[in-house]
Amino acid sequence: MPSFVNPEKCDGCKGGEKTACMYICPNDLMVLNPDEMRAYNQEPDQCWECYSCVKICPQGAIEVRHYADLAPMGGYVQPMRGTDSIMWTVKFRNGNMKRFKFPIRTTAEGSIKPYEGKPSPDASALDNELLFTETAGGRPECKPSDFD
Ligand code: SF4
Ligand code: SF4
Repeated sequence: MPSFVNPEKCDGCKGGEKTACMYICPNDLMVLNPDEMRAYNQEPDQCWECYSCVKICPQGAIEVRHYADLAPMGGYVQPMRGTDSIMWTVKFRNGNMKRFKFPIRTTAEGSIKPYEGKPSPDASALDNELLFTETAGGRPECKPSDFD
């Protein structure tokens, strides 16, 4: 089930050129209604409930409605991101509530250079079946520091 924006909480990211939810959605589903200054999911059928927009929204205005077999009616799963951790609140149908707190990466947004130190694209390698990070031996070249 798709994400949806609570218009009571959304402030349109205070009129920024691109809202946080528009920036983060990997499927470009979020758009801003400039008249109302409220965002909305323009194509709910295409939403894969990745929670990226939910986690980045500074107002906590976005929720995801789950499939009933995952979260029965009345259930609720909502993250709240802090500077160094994320708190997940899980509400059960019977009213029970549980909270889980996990550390998150603290790399500054937009500062990651995913192709730094990698070779430039080689058009002649287009037919090569190896992945970009694989060597001829087929072993990934990833180091733990690639994920810092
Ligand atoms: S990130 Fe949140 S506050 Fe900003 S436009 Fe989207 S829903 Fe509204
Ligand atoms: S849950 Fe994921 S796919 Fe759906 S609107 Fe939010 S960011 Fe996009």
